Amino acid sequence: MKDSFGREISYLRISITQRCNLNCVYCGKDACAKKAAELPPEAYYTIAKAFAACGINKVRITGGEPLVRADVPEIVRLLRSIPAIETIALTTNAVYLKQYAAALKEAGLDRVNISLDSTDGSTYRHLTGADVLHKVMEGIEAAQAVNLAPIKINAVLMKGVNSDEAGDLIALTEKRNIDVRFIELMPFSEEGKNACLVVTGEEILQQYPFLHSLELVEGTAKYYAGQNYAGRVGFINPMSRKFCGSCNRMRLLCDGKVKPCLGDDALYDLLPFLEDEAALIQQIKTIISKKPAGHHFEQGATERGMNRIGG
Ligand code: SAM
Repeated sequence: MKDSFGREISYLRISITQRCNLNCVYCGKDACAKKAAELPPEAYYTIAKAFAACGINKVRITGGEPLVRADVPEIVRLLRSIPAIETIALTTNAVYLKQYAAALKEAGLDRVNISLDSTDGSTYRHLTGADVLHKVMEGIEAAQAVNLAPIKINAVLMKGVNSDEAGDLIALTEKRNIDVRFIELMPFSEEGKNACLVVTGEEILQQYPFLHSLELVEGTAKYYAGQNYAGRVGFINPMSRKFCGSCNRMRLLCDGKVKPCLGDDALYDLLPFLEDEAALIQQIKTIISKKPAGHHFEQGATERGMNRIGG
């Protein structure tokens, strides 16, 4: 289905919890915020099925940290049973991935994106508040072992914090079939609101000019791929190169509310429609038609942290 700006909406991100086992500096985790309810797996299934009837063919499970919920495999299994959904992906910090990778694959998960902003133990601890880099690395291995591929690593760089980590993160793509994507810092926390910390994709490219010699593949991310590299290096530049004109996403929050745009505060509740499929589909169509033209990050922060939206 197309929204009122002619964009084909085909991608649903489902945040299944606001809870997280890490406390990343840029995320905007608000300990005082009232915790939103988490719905049972069947409710996400009902909503995703209705979205599929409106043209959604790709779903991503996110959070908070989705793997703090023990029923993630069950959620994947239910989503997999919806024929129109071709791709099911998961975004995770990978701390618990080793224990879930096989069950997720078996349930029908296609692939994972893993958030990793540093390969240095003490910088990782500073960024996330936890000394668990070794678990993330084990999680990456486990995902590779069961072929949750292609694995994409998402990294957010901040000036003077981890901006010197780009080289080590790029090196991960050399030998392994892993894509590393640099995502520009967005205004979701005190750090995120500090524009001086933003490292743009262009700045990283200037620092590593050899990337220009690699083949450029365009998409939401701009990828650089080299013949001698097993993986690719990508850039997602929401701040310096706004791509709202081609946004195909809707976001379902863990409590059944829909947020049509990451950078806009409008929310629509689907819970009153769960018992009536036709009414649910109609409400989803109405919400899609209200998706705004684009984010307003340039005007400052949105009122929720990323953990409460599902990044
Ligand atoms: N817990 C999971 C994880 O860590 O991947 C999923 C949720 S997390 C909110 C999803 C993504 O949002 C992470 O890749 C994180 O880097 C990104 N993110 C959070 N705050 C951000 C910010 N201020 N700017 C850019 N990306 C951000």
